[in-house]
Amino acid sequence: MVPIEFRRDVVTARFVNPAGGEIEDRRLDIRFDPLLHTSSRIAPGVRLPTAQPEALLPLQQPDPTCPFCPGRVEKVTPTLLPAIAPEGRIRCGETLLFPNLVPYSQYAAVAVFSSRHWLSLPDFTPPLLLDNLNAALSYIRRVAQADRSVRYAAYNVNYLYPSGGSLPHPHSQVYVDRHATTMMRLQEDAAVSYLARHGRPFWEDLVDEEEGRGERFIGRLGRTAWITPFAPLGFNEVRVIVRGVGTVLELTDADLRSLAHGIARVLIAYDDQGYNSFNLALSSALDPARPALGVTMSMITRSALVPYYRSDAMYLERLHWEAAVDRPPEEVARDLRTVFG
Ligand SMILES: [Zn+2]
Repeated sequence: MVPIEFRRDVVTARFVNPAGGEIEDRRLDIRFDPLLHTSSRIAPGVRLPTAQPEALLPLQQPDPTCPFCPGRVEKVTPTLLPAIAPEGRIRCGETLLFPNLVPYSQYAAVAVFSSRHWLSLPDFTPPLLLDNLNAALSYIRRVAQADRSVRYAAYNVNYLYPSGGSLPHPHSQVYVDRHATTMMRLQEDAAVSYLARHGRPFWEDLVDEEEGRGERFIGRLGRTAWITPFAPLGFNEVRVIVRGVGTVLELTDADLRSLAHGIARVLIAYDDQGYNSFNLALSSALDPARPALGVTMSMITRSALVPYYRSDAMYLERLHWEAAVDRPPEEVARDLRTVFG
C-alpha cells in the first residue's frame, strides 16, 4: 500500500472585533484532494439553512399537474426505443424508468422512485432505493448492449429545488454517454497516472489508508466502503467506494443492496441534522479494459428548502471550483458513524 498524502494548510484570518477592539482569530483550513490536488476550504461560520417543516407543506399536497404521478406518468412521459426496452418503460418494484425529455446525456433517463408524490428523507427506504438502483442498472446494461459506443454511466439524484431538482416528486436521473463528465474525466486521468506510478488502484489505497486512520472512516457494508472525503466538494459529503469492481456493469445484487442500505442511513442522518435537499452521484466507466475510474459515489446536503433560502453554491463553488464548507469531514464522519453503528 502506498501512503496517501493528505496535504493541508491551516491559516489564520484576523480582524478587530467591533465590540471590544480586541484582535480575533479565525481558523481557515485549506485542504488538497489527494487524487486531484484540487482544494477545499473549511471555514467555521459558513452556514446552510436548515429545515422549516411548514415550508414543505405546499409541496406535500397532491399536485394535479405533476407529470410523475400515477395516471399522468403513463401518458405524458416518453418511452424507450424498442431496441433498448421493447416494453417502453422499465418497471422495477415501485420504480418506473423512462427517457428524460432533457438530453443531459446521449442516453438520459428518469427513474421515479414511487407512485407517492412526496417522500421525506427517511421514506427513502432500502427496498425503495434498491428498486431504483436495479432499474437504473438494468437501463445502463441494456444501453451498453444496444450501443457499443457508450463509455461512461452515472446514477444521480437531485432532491428538492435547492439541489437543482425541477420536480419534487422523487426521482433519479441516469446518464449514459460516450463522453465522461468533467469530474469523471479528471478522476479517471488522475487514477490512471496513480496506477502507472504506484502499480495500485488509487481507490483501494484510499480506503486502506482511511480505514487505518479511522478519523474519516464511517463503515463498510459488503464491498462498499463509506468515508468522508478529506477535501469535500460540498456540505456533509459522504463518499463511497465499491471495492474490487472496475465498472458499474460488475455490480452484484449484494452490492446494490449495500448501496441502498447505506444511502438510506445517510439520508436518515441528513434528516436528523435538519437538511431535506441533497445531491447524489455514482460514476463509472463502462469499458472493462479501463477500470481506473472505479465505481464511486458521493452524497452532499444542499441548503434546506425554506423561503428565500441562500444557495450553498456561491462564487467560490460556481466560478472558482472551490468548495467552502462549515464542518471538518472528521466531524461529519463521527456523526455518520452513529447511524452506521
Ligand atoms: Zn407527483
